[in-house]
Amino acid sequence: MSDFPNGTVWLVGAGPGDPELLTRKAERLIGMASVVFHDALVGPEVLDLAAPDARLVYVGKRSGRHSKDQGTIDKLIVEAALAGERVVRLKGGDPAIFGRATEELEACHAAGVPVRICPGVTAASAAAASFGQSLTLRGLARKLTFVTAHARAGEELTLDWATLADPEATLAIYMGKAAAGAVSRNLIAAGLAPDTPVALVESASLPCERRFHSRLDLLPLAAQTALGDGPALLLIGKAMGTARPTTPHDASALAELGQIG
Ligand code: SAH
Repeated sequence: MSDFPNGTVWLVGAGPGDPELLTRKAERLIGMASVVFHDALVGPEVLDLAAPDARLVYVGKRSGRHSKDQGTIDKLIVEAALAGERVVRLKGGDPAIFGRATEELEACHAAGVPVRICPGVTAASAAAASFGQSLTLRGLARKLTFVTAHARAGEELTLDWATLADPEATLAIYMGKAAAGAVSRNLIAAGLAPDTPVALVESASLPCERRFHSRLDLLPLAAQTALGDGPALLLIGKAMGTARPTTPHDASALAELGQIG
């Protein structure tokens, strides 16, 4: 296909994990690549779509366990393209959302390597879908904010809490598990109601998915007791409190957290 000649790079969104949530374009590009650089967030079934003779290179970074720094990843991608490979840089979710895409794009531009982006389903969309809920809500949640609550090791989380504590917004908090306590405390201090609905999901769209409903003041407890090692997303706002059928999975989880009697 003419959109993927040798010596070029595609930054491809792998979606939240379920291979059926890949775009058809992503599936085609992965199948055409001679080398695929991938993250920890990319599910094994997605990697199975690569050609049998393609090289799969893990360049994952999980919080606190960096295996390759960003500069090294940029360099590997550019070198592979300059060597004439068809390079897919596969990233969890959408490459343009908290995905360090800019660094990789700039590295390619600087080296004269053609690079394009194939978007993907971001974790917030997959999380809301798993709950069977809408991220926006007519009249109640008119704004959707994607925010990362990741702080560098040893650094304080600095976010504009006054702006984030908007009762008419839904907050989708990426990389927020470790910061759940600070998120809850700061949003309440900035005026958001303690009983604001919260939804937590870990490994959305994968077979090991876990999901829970809670409220803002109980968020630290919920994050601590309910979540495991997987990537987790926090959704906060009135839209998360709308009526929904309770599945057996939800019922046992909520009982565990003392939310239902
Ligand atoms: N580019 C990605 C986000 C990368 S940041 C996207 O668009 O989704 C990594 C964070 O994304 C994780 O810490 C977690 O907060 C979230 N995340 C990614 N995949 C997830 C999943 N399957 N379930 C829940 N959260 C996920």
